[in-house]
Amino acid sequence: MARPLPERVEALIVGAGPIGLACAIAATRRDVDTLVIDAGAIADAIVRYPIGMTFFTTPERLEIGNHPLACSGAKATREEALMYYRGVVRAEGLDVRTHTRLLSAVRDGDDFRCVVATAGGEATIRCTRLVLATGYFDHPNLLGVPGESLPHVSHWFDEPHRTAGLDIVIIGGKNSAVETALQCHRAGARVTLVYRRAEFKPSLKYWLRPDLENRIAAGEITARLGAEVLSISPTHVLIRGADGSDESIPADRVYALTGYLPDFDLMHRLGIAFDAAGDRPQLDPATLETSVPGLHLAGSVGAGRFTSEVFIENGRYDGEKIFGDASSRLAADAKYEAKPRPVGE
Ligand SMILES: Cc1cc2nc3c(=O)[nH]c(=O)nc-3n(C[C@H](O)[C@H](O)[C@H](O)COP(=O)(O)OP(=O)(O)OC[C@H]3O[C@@H](n4cnc5c(N)ncnc54)[C@H](O)[C@@H]3O)c2cc1C
Repeated sequence: MARPLPERVEALIVGAGPIGLACAIAATRRDVDTLVIDAGAIADAIVRYPIGMTFFTTPERLEIGNHPLACSGAKATREEALMYYRGVVRAEGLDVRTHTRLLSAVRDGDDFRCVVATAGGEATIRCTRLVLATGYFDHPNLLGVPGESLPHVSHWFDEPHRTAGLDIVIIGGKNSAVETALQCHRAGARVTLVYRRAEFKPSLKYWLRPDLENRIAAGEITARLGAEVLSISPTHVLIRGADGSDESIPADRVYALTGYLPDFDLMHRLGIAFDAAGDRPQLDPATLETSVPGLHLAGSVGAGRFTSEVFIENGRYDGEKIFGDASSRLAADAKYEAKPRPVGE
């Protein structure tokens, strides 16, 4: 039976991703009574990475709380990272409640009154400090076309093996979409990559670009650049090409890998102020505190729409900024020096 949730804690950290866990370590090492909740499992975003995926970041830059990340190759796999973050929770004795989602939080005197959903129903937890480390992986950028919610359409790529012998349409043209196209092709799928831009961006990883371009030139992967998706049916994807003509592409499975966004609705409900364009939450760069006193944003969620600005490597000291003193904050900034961590003010 699930342990009952505490009625009150000093700090509630929402999100047990790498940054939420790093925040929990920073808090508990300072004797702050801390609870971490996560809507899914520990490191649920990494759970949803493709099976067997290798991180591009070297292992020491994925580490939190100075716990060493050992891996069998030069870089950690998804599975090694999951084992690592699980192990950190155990070694630090963090109180993490999984499958517990924050629904709302309102100021009530000096506290926040937070309503969470668990398998057993809704519960209320009071806290004086609230840290959102909720990332962005839950909220795909939807295409908004008919058929997008059909069961063979996914906004997350699971593993290439499932696609062997199938017609696969991949929508998107950034690293995830291109990597998925190459993996599905190598697993024996007939792949069509549909991208709305006329060219791939310069930020495409340097080792993916020649591989993709060579596969396209050899006719092994079909690319439709400058194309717009009009609709998805159980068997086809209808697109409008760069020349304005429509084309119906066979598709047994569709991966719409068009990026993700943080939960703007939740941030608005919590009363967090944004910049004039409404893209980036306002944060105090020293403490990562929002316009709501006592409410901080840590990790990717703090970058708003600019999800690629903050990742594990340059978010993992955010807990030092939130729970530390002036010298811990300076030390965190020094560690971020090579990969500055932009924040909206
Ligand atoms: C395929 C892929 C490869 C990547 N490779 C790298 C890499 O090599 N190096 C790198 O540094 N970064 C990499 N990233 C980016 C990295 O995954 C993110 O930057 C990182 O996970 C951000 O950590 P986080 O703790 O801020 O958020 P997340 O890891 O996204 O964690 C957020 C957590 O919050 C939970 N949550 C969300 N909403 C709620 C709610 N309302 N209530 C409770 N819990 C909630 C989620 O379930 C999740 O577990 C990669 C991303 C992808 C998709």
